[in-house]
Amino acid sequence: MTAVPATPSSPHVMNTYGRLPIALSHGQGCRVWDVNGREYLDALGGIAVNTLGHNHPKLVAALQDQVTKLIHTSNYYHVPLQEELAKLLVERSGMTNVFFCSTGLEANEAALKLARKFGHDKGIERPEIVVYEKAFHGRSIATLSATGNPKVQAGFGPLVEGFIRVPINNIEQLKAATANNPNVVAVFFEAIQGEGGVNPMHMDYLRDVRALCDERDWLLMIDEVQCGMGRTGKWFAHQWAGIQPDVMPLAKGLGSGVPVGAVVAGPRAASIFAPGNHGSTFGGNPLAMRAGVTTIHTMEAEGLLANAATVGAHLKAGLERALAAELASGAVKEIRGQGLMLGIDLSKPCAALVQRAADAGLLISVTADTVIRLVPPLIMTTAEADQVVAILCPLIIALLKEAV
Ligand SMILES: *Cc1c(COP(=O)(O)O)cnc(C)c1O
Repeated sequence: MTAVPATPSSPHVMNTYGRLPIALSHGQGCRVWDVNGREYLDALGGIAVNTLGHNHPKLVAALQDQVTKLIHTSNYYHVPLQEELAKLLVERSGMTNVFFCSTGLEANEAALKLARKFGHDKGIERPEIVVYEKAFHGRSIATLSATGNPKVQAGFGPLVEGFIRVPINNIEQLKAATANNPNVVAVFFEAIQGEGGVNPMHMDYLRDVRALCDERDWLLMIDEVQCGMGRTGKWFAHQWAGIQPDVMPLAKGLGSGVPVGAVVAGPRAASIFAPGNHGSTFGGNPLAMRAGVTTIHTMEAEGLLANAATVGAHLKAGLERALAAELASGAVKEIRGQGLMLGIDLSKPCAALVQRAADAGLLISVTADTVIRLVPPLIMTTAEADQVVAILCPLIIALLKEAV
């Protein structure tokens, strides 16, 4: 391996990310190494993607086998692995049918189309969809219009119309914003907002919105792209509230690193699309499906839902202990989230911590300016969680002591 300079440059790759001066070379479990041989503990998991960590023997073997059979065919033909993965998702969600695509925004785009056609099918010509402040649904023109972050939207207007925006966890404001509006067709949100700062929807709120959607004949559409696939300790985060959505976009952790997106639909949304209404060239290709099937089987064989719950609780408790004084003083505002989707909300911007943590051998992210986000592989051990606390908390405490 050739050593890379401290700041690797990419003169030919479009400049769309503020990247750290690190180039990763390989990984094993929850650890990755850069091209200079430095080791990092991975508490980011490719942003909630690497469910099984890196170089998982079962996933690697399954993908190697699949590559020799078929990588891609086309949706002109039946793809038996689609039926296999769809069945696994349907059984675990209690829903009924699945459309496959490759990314999160594509899954959300399909959900938005479903909602609009649901409206048109019952004579609503200008359907409107309720979305939320601080939401993140992707970067296509429609999904960035649904996103509640002015930074994501700036420079890309005119935005797509037909969205009504409300704050999270306030059922009265949802009712007020939709009062006497016959064009509303759906309510669309993340069960735990990811990019917006790890903001969970309250259980009561989830149940209230479900009831309202039933009462008004709206689709309840829950974006589980980040919080789904076992991350919170249940297959899907909304299951903690004992409810079921009508439409559920998935992606990120579904293929454990191989791009796979899916829209899972319940009975009210399963038959809205007919042939010709929607499609995706890569969607549901055999390689991606094999990754999804193997991810789910391996999660079950290794008890990763339970692991996400216990290691997540252990990690949260460890953070609370190490930051007890800062929590008491308000310098750390809150540690929130569930399972292995945790956010540490500081009283000041903390983007600088991403580089400092990497320098100390830990990969993390910071979102919404002040929130440290931990979304590690679901195979993380309690010993590794302890190591996250040991590396991260002194850096947080030092940052909080610096003059602004
Ligand atoms: C990441 C994310 C998306 C977008 O997924 P892409 O695969 O990047 O298109 C959509 N919704 C949520 C909640 C996400 O976290």
